[in-house]
Amino acid sequence: MKRIILAGGGHAHLAGISKGALSSLADSEVILISPSRYQYYSGMFSGFTEGIYTEEEIRIDLAALAEKHKFTFSEEKVTFISAAGKKVHTDSGNQYAYDWLSIDIGSSQKTASSILPVKPNYSFPDTIRSFREGRSPVIAGAGASGVELSLAAAAYRRKSGNRSPVTLISGGSLLSPSHSDRLQKICESKGVRVLLNKKASLSSAGAVEADGERIPFSDLLWLSGPEAPALFRESKMRVDERGFILVDKQLSYNESIFAAGDCASIDCYPKLPKNGVYAVRQSEVLWKNLYRAIQGEELVSFKPQKRFLGIVSTGDREGFLTYGGLHYHGKTAWKLKHAIDRRYMNSF
Ligand SMILES: Cc1cc2nc3c(=O)[nH]c(=O)nc-3n(C[C@H](O)[C@H](O)[C@H](O)COP(=O)(O)OP(=O)(O)OC[C@H]3O[C@@H](n4cnc5c(N)ncnc54)[C@H](O)[C@@H]3O)c2cc1C
Repeated sequence: MKRIILAGGGHAHLAGISKGALSSLADSEVILISPSRYQYYSGMFSGFTEGIYTEEEIRIDLAALAEKHKFTFSEEKVTFISAAGKKVHTDSGNQYAYDWLSIDIGSSQKTASSILPVKPNYSFPDTIRSFREGRSPVIAGAGASGVELSLAAAAYRRKSGNRSPVTLISGGSLLSPSHSDRLQKICESKGVRVLLNKKASLSSAGAVEADGERIPFSDLLWLSGPEAPALFRESKMRVDERGFILVDKQLSYNESIFAAGDCASIDCYPKLPKNGVYAVRQSEVLWKNLYRAIQGEELVSFKPQKRFLGIVSTGDREGFLTYGGLHYHGKTAWKLKHAIDRRYMNSF
């Protein structure tokens, strides 16, 4: 009997499990270790923020999934990986020996006492309940998550009769240079105050410094992009210059460790964006290779697609759809996003 440890209930692991990946692993014991019983789906964070989805609708119950697919779920956090000794250590003091280890623990975020946590993702619901009610909420960082959450919080505030704006500070353009002007107009028409091309830093308690301007806040989200979990450096594993575990295009770290999703950087695709779309795409290769490694077969390679369809919810059941340099804004985009997200959640 071989033991496979899955560290982290992230999208790359779960997408495979829901497609029956475990059923192809004969004569093996699978243990999923993740610090919360629930994995929250970030694709539906904006809808939750706005009040469209309930907490139940945006999360996957890992214990129930374990029962359905006959693996063991253990609610713990992996704190150390001994690649040489083939063991993982957890915050409960347990040690698990493994034959194969697959890592999908996601990314971390900038931390400070005044920044509300959104990572790990189970901290999101409590954070956003406080943020959306705040007197003067501020988001630093205007990638997809910053734009989407500022618009969702503004929509929630409008519906609850709160007219004070949400402030969004962007170090450059909104989302990307080709979509920025259009998104800025949408933001401003929907109660988001945009500060464009301003480099934000944390100054005194209760304020952000944006190129000399002091922006006081009641609640602060810092969505400047993923940061590496400390686990890999602490475990003295091979990492890229930011601290993400370094794997090859077969998502392999060595002959018994694989990693995928935000936590991993692929050596030949160092600029690959870290988002849920790529985590789910890597899932297929990850599970194929776990199976092939166990069978002693040749591994397959991950090849990222060049473009992907992106849909940012803009509040009021409208969405901003992008594909390369093209965009469309309206109700149809939101309906498409809603259908994709619902289908994903229903697959569990
Ligand atoms: C506010 C926000 C909104 C976003 N919206 C979108 C979006 O609409 N579309 C999109 O594509 N991307 C979006 N993203 C990015 C997306 O959330 C991530 O890229 C995606 O979740 C990465 O998936 P993953 O499988 O790598 O990890 P995650 O989904 O982050 O899952 C990691 C899992 O590992 C667990 N874990 C963490 N540490 C440990 C540990 N030490 N030991 C064991 N388990 C651990 C966590 O609890 C979690 O269950 C958003 C991000 C944020 C912050």
